[in-house]
Formats: sequence, structure tokens, C-alpha cells
Amino acid sequence: MTKNPADLLIGVHASVAGGVENALFTGEELGATTVQIFSRNQKQWAAKPFSQKELDNWQAALKETHLKKIMVHDSYLINLGSPRQEILAKSRKAFREELKRCHQLGVSFLNFHPGAALTSSEEECLNLIVESIEEVADLAAEGPTRLLIETTAGQGSNVGHDFEHLAYLIQNLHDKVPIGVCIDTCHIFAAGYDISTPKAWKETLGEFDKVVGRKYLNAFHLNDSLKPLGSRRDRHANLGKGEIGIDCFKFLMQDPDLREIPKYLETPNGSEFWKDEIQMLRDFAK
Ligand SMILES: [Zn+2]
Ligand SMILES: [Zn+2]
Repeated sequence: MTKNPADLLIGVHASVAGGVENALFTGEELGATTVQIFSRNQKQWAAKPFSQKELDNWQAALKETHLKKIMVHDSYLINLGSPRQEILAKSRKAFREELKRCHQLGVSFLNFHPGAALTSSEEECLNLIVESIEEVADLAAEGPTRLLIETTAGQGSNVGHDFEHLAYLIQNLHDKVPIGVCIDTCHIFAAGYDISTPKAWKETLGEFDKVVGRKYLNAFHLNDSLKPLGSRRDRHANLGKGEIGIDCFKFLMQDPDLREIPKYLETPNGSEFWKDEIQMLRDFAK
């Protein structure tokens, strides 16, 4: 049975200002069926623990709004592959905290940027990331949250822009933690994988399947790209207003293998565009 377009999981990155549950209400108002959130201030190392009241409010809001497959995006400060000991230690501690908070909220996914090599090689960086994730294996086994590696644009020394990087991480970790991939459409396009036409999408998916394995594709971040194919620059644009173009997003909503995979908008000026973008995506799915 194919799902009714109204039930397909389409969300936005919603603000938790004033209480984590507010993200769910914002999502519902916009016509979203899921959301992505930061579970804490994404620009600070320390996070205040959730109070029981906050967790109760969250559970009540989940029941009321019926949003599903909630995703937490990890803090921007975390670099699980940092060659600097002090930053690596802080990152590992903060990542463990992130996962704990995900379990407290009962969310489906913790999306994370794999890491940046800085002064080291990509290979050294990838090996440190494997070690970092292995350290949370005990905790990961206790909760419902799947760790999703976000594909990157390959800006600076970020790893994760090449499907081979994702494959390396998954091969080393899949039997230790629940793991998968979130494809950010802007990022893979900027990294050099063309998705601007149905034909290009099919080739890119074929490549992903061959290198990583389709079963590890768990989610999408939906963004058009201000910068051209292969530019290695991460600049989000509204759907159809960038270098990728609208056909990419039609394909994602119509392809029988992809339409039911959860999708989260991170397009600019959300309050102005998200309602229309969500509706447009649902219309594509009809
Ligand atoms: Zn991200
Ligand atoms: Zn981005």
C-alpha cells in the first residue's frame, strides 16, 4: 500500500525556544508530520539537563500533535574526528550527552556531522570517528535512537562528502551501534553528486547503493543549493530557487523507494516559506 500524501513524513528544523515541546506545535501549525530540533543550545558545550516537567510537556505534545520520527541534530561544536586531544575529549563527552537527551525524549534519530580532519589526514579522522562512536555503543543499546551520519558538502576539511567515507564508517560500526545515513540534498550536490534530474538521481542512488548500501539510507535533509555542482560549498536555498532545481524534489516525493523516507527542510527564511514548501512536496506526492 502506498501512503496517502498527507501521511508522508515531511518536517522542518523547528525552534525549541520557550520549551522543547514548542517545536512540535510549530511543526503541526506548518503542516509538518515530523520535525528536527536542537535538543540544547547548539553553540555551547554545556547543556542544562531536562527537568521532569520539560519531559512531561514533550510527551504530552507528542500525543497531541501525532508527529513521528523526530530527529535531533547534534551541536555544531562537536568534532568526533578532531586531532586536538582536548576538543576530541569535549566532543565525545558532549556526544554522549546528546544521545542521552535523545533517549530521554524518545526520538528516532540523532543526526551528526561526522567530523573535520583539520591538520590530520581523512583516514586518521575517519578512524577517530569510529573510536568516538564505539565509545557510546553501551548507551546506544539502551534506547530507541539511531545515529545518522549526515552527508557533508566537503567544505574545509570535513569528511563525509564522499560515499566511500560513509561506507568506511558503517562497515566499522554497523554491528556495534544502530547507524545509518541522512542525505542532505544541498550537501551531496555541492560534494559533486548530481541529483538535478531523475536520471542523475537514479545514477547517484545506484552509486550510493553500490558503495554504502540502500538499507542504510534513513532520512533526507531537503535543501536546494545556492552553489553549483561540485563547488564544495554549503549554502542552502529554498526549493527550486537554487542550482539543483525543483525536479530533484519531485523525484524524491514520487519515487516508490524514497517517498516514505522521512524528510526535513532546512531551507532559509523558514517562517515565510516552510508552509508552502511542505504543501508543494505533498502535492508532488499525489
Ligand atoms: Zn547538519
Ligand atoms: Zn548545510
